[in-house]
Amino acid sequence: MANECIFCQIIEGKIPTEFIYKDEEIVAFNDINPQAPVHILIVPVKHIPTINVLEDNDLPLIGKMVAVARDLAKSANIAESGYKLIFNVEKGGGQEIFHIHLHLVGGW
Ligand code: AMP
Ligand code: ZN
Repeated sequence: MANECIFCQIIEGKIPTEFIYKDEEIVAFNDINPQAPVHILIVPVKHIPTINVLEDNDLPLIGKMVAVARDLAKSANIAESGYKLIFNVEKGGGQEIFHIHLHLVGGW
């Protein structure tokens, strides 16, 4: 957990956010600046700054994030039309918030 982290603040309820999905390990919410008709962020509760520091014991969590994305794509009716799942990694990879998150984008 990192106090200055905006996603930790969202998870802790300090920034009011409507969760599309929430369990003890993962939350999901709409991106505030959507780049597609559907743009959802799937975020682990655990504060992991980037994919570069992901540890092997975090791998089941990543699998679960992908499964949540799959289910949310179905709920948003974009499973058949198709979508992208994106991790931006480090500044050069477009990462702006250093708490890992999976972008689910689609619905074009
Ligand atoms: P990235 O560039 O991969 O780090 O993505 C960060 C994403 O978080 C961007 O698409 C932002 O639009 C989004 N974002 C930033 N602040 C918020 C917020 N308060 N609620 C929802 N999405 C946010
Ligand atoms: Zn965080």
